[in-house]
Amino acid sequence: MAQIRANLASVRRRIDDACNQCGRDPATVRLLPVSKTVAVERLRLAYAAGCRELGENKVQEARHKHQTLADLTDLRWSVIGHLQTNKARYVARFASEFQALDSVRVAEALERRLQQEGRALDVMVQVNTSGEDSKYGLAPNQVAPFLKALTPFSCLRVRGLMTLALWSSDTDRVRACFARLRQLRDRLRQNAPDRIDLTHLSMGMSGDFETAIEEGATVVRVGQAIFGARPLPDSHYWPDAASSPTPQAEQTP
Ligand SMILES: *Cc1c(COP(=O)(O)O)cnc(C)c1O
Repeated sequence: MAQIRANLASVRRRIDDACNQCGRDPATVRLLPVSKTVAVERLRLAYAAGCRELGENKVQEARHKHQTLADLTDLRWSVIGHLQTNKARYVARFASEFQALDSVRVAEALERRLQQEGRALDVMVQVNTSGEDSKYGLAPNQVAPFLKALTPFSCLRVRGLMTLALWSSDTDRVRACFARLRQLRDRLRQNAPDRIDLTHLSMGMSGDFETAIEEGATVVRVGQAIFGARPLPDSHYWPDAASSPTPQAEQTP
């Protein structure tokens, strides 16, 4: 637990530093720890170290962990990976947030299940800012009509936009993805439909969250810098992805 606590503190310090560099209030950046592939025993340690929310890429894994850790009643789950309509019912049951919304069919499925459960769900719309085929998400020019299509779904509370930057060690090209999301958000916010809140920008991971903060991120999704390097290559999570930028965990398990 000391190690997770130290890594969390180190990431928080880096967030604070990045905010100070660009004159932002660190309280405006939410750290979402991403726990995919991390065993539930270690997630109990993360909870003991102060984590009250966890992000998971795959619904089945998230669902299993939620069930196993059901005694931690104030632990919130955020699903941050692509969702198939046939798994919407699980997300509707246990998740507090879904960050990868990019289809009306999934929105319909979630809405129907949420109605049945009597729940609401915070959602973010995933945008493909890199133009890579391997990335999910809407093309930037599809987002305005998509937001309009979401307005009838009263159980979905749209909170903002989410993206994954290009896989590259070229910081300028990574930064361009984040800037694209912010500019899109700024433009859309000028006449967003009723009930569509575009406050949040979820962008930045272990390898690039400081750059994302400089470009306006309000949520950073950080896994490996907290929990150590993952055993599985990222191609397991993102088809065709090359390996992600070097994680900066201070220690690995
Ligand atoms: C795994 C994952 C992250 C975190 O990546 P790290 O390199 O572990 O920080 C962020 N966003 C999504 C969608 C992920 O699947």
